[in-house]
Amino acid sequence: MTDSTKYLLAEDRLPKAWYNLNADLPVPLPPPLHPGTGQPIGPDDLAPIFPMAIIAQEVTTERWVEIPEPVRDIYRLWRPSPLVRARRLEKALDTPAHIYFKYEGVSPAGSHKPNTSVPQAFYNRQEGVKRIATETGAGQWGSSMAFAGSLFGLEVEVYMVKISYNQKPYRRALMETYGATCIPSPSPLTASGRAILAADPDSNGSLGIAISEAVEVAASRDDTKYALGSVLNHVCLHQTVIGEEAIEQMAMAGEQPDVVIACTGGGSNFAGLAFPYIREKLKGMTVRVVGVEPASCPTLTRGTYAYDFGDTGHLTPLVKMHTLGSTFMPPGSHAGGLRYHGMAPMVSHVQQLGLMEARAYHQTECFAAAVQFARCEGIVPAPESSHAVRAAIDEALAAKAEGRKRVILFNLSGHGHFDMQAYTDYFAGKLQDLDYDAAALAAALGELPAVAE
Ligand SMILES: *Cc1c(COP(=O)(O)O)cnc(C)c1O
Repeated sequence: MTDSTKYLLAEDRLPKAWYNLNADLPVPLPPPLHPGTGQPIGPDDLAPIFPMAIIAQEVTTERWVEIPEPVRDIYRLWRPSPLVRARRLEKALDTPAHIYFKYEGVSPAGSHKPNTSVPQAFYNRQEGVKRIATETGAGQWGSSMAFAGSLFGLEVEVYMVKISYNQKPYRRALMETYGATCIPSPSPLTASGRAILAADPDSNGSLGIAISEAVEVAASRDDTKYALGSVLNHVCLHQTVIGEEAIEQMAMAGEQPDVVIACTGGGSNFAGLAFPYIREKLKGMTVRVVGVEPASCPTLTRGTYAYDFGDTGHLTPLVKMHTLGSTFMPPGSHAGGLRYHGMAPMVSHVQQLGLMEARAYHQTECFAAAVQFARCEGIVPAPESSHAVRAAIDEALAAKAEGRKRVILFNLSGHGHFDMQAYTDYFAGKLQDLDYDAAALAAALGELPAVAE
């Protein structure tokens, strides 16, 4: 063991391949289905909206997928990201636990999301695509895609959930700085948007609606493809650079984690850190893996494992996942990036197989943890990441109660510099711990598509 604070890998140790957990799962992932026929979809079904290289990655069972050199070259702008031992937080908690975090807020957009927006832009560019249509909730994915688009000369059109468009003008400004166009969703530009506006002209929008708008634009224009920032297999794949680096960095620290923690919105930053550890777990390593979600949008802890649509307008294939129902509207919260009705099929499957645990927290207890973390370690966590901070602190307090050492590793998926209004509201006592509406959840689950399995 060492007494360092940061564990840094040199640029030449940047991973050369992404790790695909689908190669090692004891039971294969249920396939995506065509909503019309109920049959597994093929590459041709996805070709209107994704480039072929991405479709191939979506279905591959190869264990390692080489990272193209132009992508590694851009990753070098911020990767390998640091692994930090939170020594001051340990001291403040007076715990025998060792707390490590992998810090993804060092990317240009401030989160883990450029780990996938960069390769997605690369493959689209390689196949001659000119424009990308995508959606964004709080704006992290939109700004990450805008950044990647600017590096590869792609036009990027972002449908941003209207409530965030109005509440987070600086994320919008960041997207525009990178040259992207940002449109509040629901918008009158698409049939999906017009249908929502006809029913509710004041709709605040949701991720599910914004996805429908972006998919519709991509499907209806030859020069445009769609890009998704989470949920899908290829996104989980791209994020595994996080865990591959972390395994090497924990070895530099001379320790192995007893517990690995990440917040779960669509599941990608969790997959990124956890899947390489689940590979080791399948090989015999003793490690607990914990996903943390908001109590207001409790996909893993309260959702049903079933085939469902990825979007509100029902344009996407059906995927088997933990879902609250595609028509479920989670209450507003500051962790916009965690407000999605579904969960990555791979993460859902891993939970079904008993390879991970999930827990849910309310937002005020997460902000309390984030503030304590910031006052010890200096970094202000994104509201999404604060869920992982809460769980890490609780694990450290449990170790203290037991009087035993515990090695904790969590993913600090992003910084909160664009979310300071949320902190202001927290300090003013304005944040409420909203529960989801149980009747609305039951109704949304009642509308799950019927699928013969
Ligand atoms: C988008 C986002 C998340 C949630 O998305 P996942 O796909 O679950 O990782 C978490 N943290 C930050 C900082 C984000 O920007």
